[in-house]
Amino acid sequence: MIDALDYEIGNHRIACPDCGRGGRDKTTGLKVEADSVVLHCFRCGLVQSFHSERTAVRRGPCTKPQQAQQHTSLNEWGRALWQSTHELAGVALDYLKHRHCVIPPAYGDLRWHPALKHPTGYTGPALVALITEVHTNQPMSLHRTWIQATGKADIDPPRLLLGNHATANGIIRLFPDDEVGHTLGLAEGIETALSLAWFGYPVWSTIDAGHLGKFPLLAGITQLVIAQDNDPAGIAAATTCAQRWADADRWVIVTKQAQNDLNDEVSK
Ligand SMILES: [Zn+2]
Repeated sequence: MIDALDYEIGNHRIACPDCGRGGRDKTTGLKVEADSVVLHCFRCGLVQSFHSERTAVRRGPCTKPQQAQQHTSLNEWGRALWQSTHELAGVALDYLKHRHCVIPPAYGDLRWHPALKHPTGYTGPALVALITEVHTNQPMSLHRTWIQATGKADIDPPRLLLGNHATANGIIRLFPDDEVGHTLGLAEGIETALSLAWFGYPVWSTIDAGHLGKFPLLAGITQLVIAQDNDPAGIAAATTCAQRWADADRWVIVTKQAQNDLNDEVSK
């Protein structure tokens, strides 16, 4: 993490906490003011803002950083990172098996990296999922989950999207398009979707409730199965999505469970 006390008030160039390679690789602009710090990496797109501990008295909420232009498709750094990932194996398989997940096809959009850097400085194995535009398949961003064999890595947060990449209409194709027939299974989280896959459906992950609620009608899919998360946002999103598909005369099944999500249920 960046310690603002190390820097004078003003503008600096530093190594990126996310994509930095160390040494003189300074791709990140750091703007230090009396009560706030804003950081923006020109390579990976990371944007962070936080209060500086410089002054004892806090002066209200941190001002939003000026919104940098969002990437609408995966930038060069993200593409290189995706190229450096591997077919699921080792700790990634151990993790997924421990979570009682179906192992998705090797040519789906879930892969892993044995030693991926986290903005906190931690480096370790991570699942890496490609987010693609739902209609065009255009790569948009990456979703990373730092893991160990028996659960998520003990870092905060264990899951991260790439900074400064748009994800509207983005989806994680855990199963590739040519495995999707008339039926598609959908869930917010990767592990939940891979639990739904036990029912025999090809599955995709919408990343979160917001994207689930907006999931559009797709030609050729006549049955949608949604593994609904058991929280207010999850229920609202599944209901909105189910209604959209039902209104267009598609079969829609929404799974419900007492646990928070279907992965908790299959892990019992
Ligand atoms: Zn960066």
